[in-house]
Amino acid sequence: MPGLSKNLVLNLHDIGCSQRCVFCQSYSFVSRKKARQVAAEQLSKLKLYCRQEKEINLIILSGNDPGEYFDLVNFLKNIKKITSAQVVVQSNGLAFRNRNFLKELLAVGNISSFQLPIYGHNAKLHDFVVGKKGSFDMIIRVLGNFKKLGFGNLKLHTLFLKQNEDYLPELVNFLLSFGLPVDASLVCLPGYQGKYDRGVLANAPDLKKVFSFFKKEAKLIKRYNQNLFFYDLPFCLAPGAINLSFRDEQARGGYDHFRKKKIDMAKSRGESVAAYRILKKSSKCRSCLFGKKCKGITSPYLDLKLFSPQPAKLE
Ligand code: SF4
Repeated sequence: MPGLSKNLVLNLHDIGCSQRCVFCQSYSFVSRKKARQVAAEQLSKLKLYCRQEKEINLIILSGNDPGEYFDLVNFLKNIKKITSAQVVVQSNGLAFRNRNFLKELLAVGNISSFQLPIYGHNAKLHDFVVGKKGSFDMIIRVLGNFKKLGFGNLKLHTLFLKQNEDYLPELVNFLLSFGLPVDASLVCLPGYQGKYDRGVLANAPDLKKVFSFFKKEAKLIKRYNQNLFFYDLPFCLAPGAINLSFRDEQARGGYDHFRKKKIDMAKSRGESVAAYRILKKSSKCRSCLFGKKCKGITSPYLDLKLFSPQPAKLE
């Protein structure tokens, strides 16, 4: 649909990551030569997209892990040669503890913001989730580097996981203590041929605990609502939250490389996406007051009966 501004996901996938997050599916990393090829593929995709679509709103640079790509500065410079669109960098951020490297990245001039993940309110929990000792302290140092360089467009990202389900108030309070926007979503549950690996299921949080977090922390949610953003979380699971949105229909791309992986794919708006991102509702949702606005939950949570919709009714 020419003319519609869109967000485009560029994915520096499988190029290398020093973390081993419990929910991550890809630890096998490619050589530098191959990483360059991945980067070149993404730039060709961007060029093609620019030829097809007159305008790009934003580039979401994702992967595992873009911050650890050895030639990231040149990659950003090449993006700048193709489009004036700004870039949101989604990265574990660990490479940015090198302040000179961070300075070089910012000097390219096309990064609008960074999204950095923290999965626990202390080193013990976060380092366990990311499978890397010292990661928590590193990310705190990285946040300090951004401050020293005067760059404030940061968003903290977290996931509701089995591993942190009993510490959600501590986690969200900790994240909000930085005074930055915080986004949260449920951990993804990738399946293959309709089956789910035990390791994947072990990460799924108890949704009753997620629901009771929103209930018990209603005052906190209300007070910091402007800074709290929740993705693919149904209204009935997040009472009181206002910034609830669903998979950004405007975002295109980012899943092509999944075709080579044991992850079910699906079609959405003519595009291949990971099946675990597809949102679903149940027949119970028909009577729900939020029925029009709410797009439900990511399908594995319904398929595996981990979630039971609670339709909102007129009181
Ligand atoms: S009952 Fe269904 S439509 Fe209503 S909020 Fe829950 S998931 Fe959404």
